[in-house]
Amino acid sequence: MEKTFSERLAEAEERIEAACARSGRARSEVTLVAVTKTWPPEIVSEAIREGAATLGENRVQEALAKAPLCPSADWHLIGPLQKNKVRHALSLFSTLHAIDSIDTLEALARVQEQTGARPDVMLEVNVAAEPTKHGFTPAGVRDAIRAALERGEVRLCGLMCMPPWEPDPEASRPRFRALRELRDSLEREFGIGLPSLSMGTSGDYAVAVEEGSTHVRLGTALFGRRNAAAWKPERSPDSDSYFV
Ligand SMILES: *Cc1c(COP(=O)(O)O)cnc(C)c1O
Repeated sequence: MEKTFSERLAEAEERIEAACARSGRARSEVTLVAVTKTWPPEIVSEAIREGAATLGENRVQEALAKAPLCPSADWHLIGPLQKNKVRHALSLFSTLHAIDSIDTLEALARVQEQTGARPDVMLEVNVAAEPTKHGFTPAGVRDAIRAALERGEVRLCGLMCMPPWEPDPEASRPRFRALRELRDSLEREFGIGLPSLSMGTSGDYAVAVEEGSTHVRLGTALFGRRNAAAWKPERSPDSDSYFV
């Protein structure tokens, strides 16, 4: 029989706890982000009732349309953010995992100044230097931190990565370790704290936790395989602004 959401959540909790124990970390250092992208509000609502408290979406408009149809939760944006969607994003998300351009950081600073929103911000790093992937290079991330510090408003809290998919999760360990080491050296260079490391997805989160992850982003492990026909909000005059 198919496992239920709460069985899958309990299994993920156990594996996170075991990985914390193996690496001498406290379970409270790791946030489980339930990745709800493509799932309809009924499924998401059920997940929230079963105990998912932090939700991850990768598209601003999808999340903005879905959130009002669900019980309250802490919504995180795990996908990239374009600068023209910053204002919309700040109306929902407490945490932005994947900021990948200085333009967006500057737009964030401007909107924060106007609205008083203060999301936690992580910078995405392209750890394997893949030409098709989002994210700063290790040199680029330094420029981004400099730009953010100059503007002051942006609350930088850490780094995020999405390494290439590997059938063996151990193959991702060097990528996760590299992100942690980059974080450590940036903290020293800039004299700032970057406590958050968003790394690890369904296939490799135990390894990521062992390497210091503070945010694991779990979709498939909790909800099963995503449907090819993703949930789409119905268009209405009210929701047109989600599609700018
Ligand atoms: C979809 C997505 C995930 C979840 O991936 P799973 O393998 O289903 O756990 C994690 N992070 C990001 C950025 C995603 O877009």
